[in-house]
Amino acid sequence: MKYISTRGKSPKLNFSEVLLTGLAPDGGLYLPETYPRFSDEDLSHMRSMSYQDLAFFIFQKFIDDVPADNLKAIVNKAYASDVYSFGRLEQKAEDITPTLKLKDNLFLLSLSNGPTLAFKDIAMQFLGHMFEYVLDKNGESLNILGATSGDTGPAAEYAMRGKKGVRVFMLSPHSTMSPFQAAQMYSLMDDNIFNIAIKGVFDDCQDIVKAVSNDLSFKDKYKIGAVNSINWGRILAQIVYYFKGYFDVTSNNREKVDFTVPTGNFGNICAGHIAREMGLPINHLIVATNENDVLDEFFRTGNYEPRSSEETFQTSSPSMDISKASNFERFIFDLLGRDSNLLRQYWGNIDKGGSFKLDDTSFQKIKNYGFISSSSKHINRIDFIRSVYNDFNTIIDTHTADGIKAALDHIKNIPMLVLETALPIKFEKSVFEAIGVYPERPFELKDLELMDQRFEVFNSDTEQVKNFIINNS
Ligand SMILES: *Cc1c(COP(=O)(O)O)cnc(C)c1O
Repeated sequence: MKYISTRGKSPKLNFSEVLLTGLAPDGGLYLPETYPRFSDEDLSHMRSMSYQDLAFFIFQKFIDDVPADNLKAIVNKAYASDVYSFGRLEQKAEDITPTLKLKDNLFLLSLSNGPTLAFKDIAMQFLGHMFEYVLDKNGESLNILGATSGDTGPAAEYAMRGKKGVRVFMLSPHSTMSPFQAAQMYSLMDDNIFNIAIKGVFDDCQDIVKAVSNDLSFKDKYKIGAVNSINWGRILAQIVYYFKGYFDVTSNNREKVDFTVPTGNFGNICAGHIAREMGLPINHLIVATNENDVLDEFFRTGNYEPRSSEETFQTSSPSMDISKASNFERFIFDLLGRDSNLLRQYWGNIDKGGSFKLDDTSFQKIKNYGFISSSSKHINRIDFIRSVYNDFNTIIDTHTADGIKAALDHIKNIPMLVLETALPIKFEKSVFEAIGVYPERPFELKDLELMDQRFEVFNSDTEQVKNFIINNS
């Protein structure tokens, strides 16, 4: 399997190369040359597989430059059941991403039972083991530089801690993350993990990462890598749980289901789109946004008009406070029949801060792909956290509440799976606002905020960050 860039002007790469590359040299994103397709017979065979076997079976179709035994060992480490132990009492850790039935035809697909209580662990754990393997094989090392507003940073650090050949330099906004999220990162004492709190907002952190990555000689010399959601390895890992969820709630491959996905950078739902292209019987993929509803507007009108960071609201589902979805280019590439010339035209406008409107044929294709959307506001999140608690005795977080709202806007008489993207403990203030109680914390996390912390505090200054990397690598 070879990988191509959406912009059509980069050399084809194999999986291990794509894993370490991030953005393609032409500015595009990597995708497999074609999507493998499963037959009905394949699906029947996959139906009874464990999570680990399913992941291995799917990954093998996309990765042909890692020997099967090694790939199998990586999968078994990334998806060991003891890594996903924070699920609800009635859920089994062996399931990795168990489903929880709320009522007939309405399910939560629990993706957040991993070490940092958000769905990003599923992909990041795989990346951590994969990086270690590929770097060791090539005799290389990598300095991962990232920016986080709260969920990516902890997931990346828990996945990379103690991994040979990998160092993580994670920039976070000083004092705007929740105390819980900050403590998740700052309490890590591993030698290869460096936390840098920037006196500024998330965008300042993001700008420093971009500035460092654009300094190609520095990037080359200090082997700067990325784990943000444009990394193909993350999308690939997320394809698996769409299959797992489907098999959990159906009894044969003729049944169709709908998925609702709380969406920010379009990584998670892009994996759902690919699962559908691979033959998974998905009827609708429902894009759930919060007040930052650029994507909802696109799926209703065909008009894509990203907003600036000043026009982006800070909401109570902060991991979805995104107005320019970094993975969207992958989906549009498919939608345009993989025409890189047309894509470059569209993204020429986007990169200059502009917009584009789809022609009628492409807009029609959105419907063929099964995409629909909804947005919600703070009051909806609070109402749905409350009603899910009252009706089903289950506490959900604010992002999952955005998902429940969108799911109920569009539910038909087939199974609807809502992806649970974080556990409620991570956003306990909003949960308290809704139901007047705090979600119970697992024993291991009771005193998280009281643990010793280690982090640097820098001004929003690219040179200072570069020097820090030089001195610590
Ligand atoms: C990252 C994140 C999202 C958005 O996922 P994308 O892949 O960026 O669309 C939604 N909810 C939570 C809790 C997240 O951490």
